[in-house]
Amino acid sequence: PDVAAKIAAGEVVERPASVVKELIENSIDAGATQIRVDLTHGGLQLIRITDNGSGIPAEELPLALTRHATSKVANIDDLEHIRSLGFRGEALASIAAVAEVSLMSRPRGVEQGSQLSAQNGQISEVTAAASPEGTTITVRNLFSAVPARLKFIKSRNTEISHCHHLLEQYALAYPEIRFNVFSEGRQIFATPGDGQLASVLVEVYGLQIAEQMIKVQGNEQPEDTAYPIITGYTSRPTAYKSNRQHISFFVNRRWVLSRMLTSAVEGAYHSLLLTGRHPIAVINIQIDPSVLDVNVHPAKTEIRFLKERRVYAAILRAVREALLEEPE
Ligand code: ADP
Ligand code: MG
Repeated sequence: PDVAAKIAAGEVVERPASVVKELIENSIDAGATQIRVDLTHGGLQLIRITDNGSGIPAEELPLALTRHATSKVANIDDLEHIRSLGFRGEALASIAAVAEVSLMSRPRGVEQGSQLSAQNGQISEVTAAASPEGTTITVRNLFSAVPARLKFIKSRNTEISHCHHLLEQYALAYPEIRFNVFSEGRQIFATPGDGQLASVLVEVYGLQIAEQMIKVQGNEQPEDTAYPIITGYTSRPTAYKSNRQHISFFVNRRWVLSRMLTSAVEGAYHSLLLTGRHPIAVINIQIDPSVLDVNVHPAKTEIRFLKERRVYAAILRAVREALLEEPE
């Protein structure tokens, strides 16, 4: 691949977990209800994602690896109403610039599957393949041709834990999807896919903590659609962690990182004089997409709200009410 392609790829693909993120989002966008992830050597040797989503027609396989080709956003106005997780059409192309990628897919109800692979920016011919319904994407030897990037990669275990954490977040956001994650052939994480956030909490935090979680109820949709609906779970003061990294936020089911949102949850505890410990929480924020900007950065874990203070206040109130209703 040319230098420009590799630089662009660096924006999206920082480490194995970034590849996993893009592939998982594609599987979710494709309506998958089952997603399997296989990692070898922390994802550096192999990342394989198998889903039972809508699949890719044979004639569209080469497009999937082409930069700025997306089947999801037709024009710029659509950006205001993004419903899918992906919209830039550059993830797969970027991954293919820094790894060997093979794609195998069969759309639902289509008799014959097909496959294609890409190595060093060269895309192969599409050939027939015995594929189950859905899509399997295999990414091999990530960064092996980008020594500068490889230098920044931490130990295998660090990369596994980044992937693991990320997959937990997507599982929390999508309790109706059955996730199965393997590292070196050993299962490291799985969710039942029963649609219950409580079930995913058990898998992520263990039964003991899950039993200490209180439901955060959704308020009614107010007249003003810029006001968010907050749902989720937050921990009783008897359950806590040693750092803030166990508060997860999903905005219209997109995982986001935000100090502002974190401090809203913490503010609820502080307002009840529960200080000094870090709560565990999963907060879903449902909000009119037109008051959001998800287009901040290619990696997209940042988000901007038009009316930040309202979101802050809504979270603080919802968490506080949950704590007040079930004090111990
Ligand atoms: P984006 O998600 O922004 O559209 P990507 O580079 O991630 O761009 O993917 C390119 C295209 O490949 C998608 O628009 C979609 O049409 C197709 N695609 C990728 N992964 C899958 C998948 N798992 N199932 C179905 N289609 C997929
Ligand atoms: Mg995508």
